[in-house]
Amino acid sequence: MRATVMYGAGDVRIEDVPEARLIEPTDALVAVTCAAICGSDLWPYKTMEPGEAGRRMGHEFIGIVEAVGTDVQTVKAGDVVVSPFLWSDGTCVFCQEGLQSDCLHGGRYGSDDVDGGQGEAVRVPQADGTLVVLPVGADDALMPSVLTLSDVMGTGHHAAVAADVGPGTTVAVVGDGAVGLCGVIAAKRLGAERIILLGSYPDRIALGTEFGATDVVSERGDEAVERVRELTDGLGAHSVLECVGLEESTLTALQIARPGGAVGRVGLPQEDSVPDAIATFFKNVTIGGGPAPVRAYIEELLPDVLEGTIAPGRVFDRVVGLDEVPDGYRAMNDREAIKVLIDLEKEDADDRVDHRRAQQDRRRGRAGDRVAPI
Ligand SMILES: [Zn+2]
Repeated sequence: MRATVMYGAGDVRIEDVPEARLIEPTDALVAVTCAAICGSDLWPYKTMEPGEAGRRMGHEFIGIVEAVGTDVQTVKAGDVVVSPFLWSDGTCVFCQEGLQSDCLHGGRYGSDDVDGGQGEAVRVPQADGTLVVLPVGADDALMPSVLTLSDVMGTGHHAAVAADVGPGTTVAVVGDGAVGLCGVIAAKRLGAERIILLGSYPDRIALGTEFGATDVVSERGDEAVERVRELTDGLGAHSVLECVGLEESTLTALQIARPGGAVGRVGLPQEDSVPDAIATFFKNVTIGGGPAPVRAYIEELLPDVLEGTIAPGRVFDRVVGLDEVPDGYRAMNDREAIKVLIDLEKEDADDRVDHRRAQQDRRRGRAGDRVAPI
């Protein structure tokens, strides 16, 4: 089957890789119908040393279940499913607390023998705890919005929850990438009265304003802090969503939080230490956040997506086929695109489709041998 493999900074290839297949009785085999490129995929795209072994990429995807292991109860062949960006068993102490990102038996896609999401098929471990069956078809017009529940919308929501956003609050969102924009949606959904978006790209700001941002601050550093203070009568924001992860953005987030406020961090930190710790201490600011347990949020957010109350899929402003994924990385890295959707059905030649069908048939055959011996 074909899948996305990264070999170094700027070096993304579509290659033939071993067929995805069931290994454990708790696995599901999912044929991917759509996937996404994540802002976090851009970190290795900028920094990965060439010469390392190729890395299978992708952790946001929707697909159709082709086969399941003998222990799987809640999903079956033919189901349309969305996966969170991490897999989890759904039963351990942390999963039961809604912290599936710390599952004792969970893990990441694209590591060891677990496929990445940017390919034709994925072996999903712990299928019962991980996958959510969708009540709509794989070709539904809502799929881009549903796909955001695998990461960016759940992550934006997690930032809002960690920052204690509630009715009537003043919220600041640091970062106008897909997660920051979803953070705006989440803040509005949770009742924020005022939402200040810190960002500087005109297309992103325009979308953020449509999503509910009431003010925009395009300055950076000290000037941004000063602008937010002006907008909040010198007090700062109750809730700050840090959606970038750089030292400067984290510092800004902490400085614009008002005394007693909270900062929800979901940008992957690029520094080991938290800046401005002493001033933050004296303001009694709570610092929360981390990798979002998006599995916990899918069930909460999915009804709003299906009803059209929120439309986070609008962050996708480019659609590519699997062969065009390398250019999708380039476009996101060059800020030509906010977020790229990979449509596995977007193929330019019939023989590709035939090729894939033949591979799917082979996978099914192999899956049958593995899990359903007669
Ligand atoms: Zn667990």
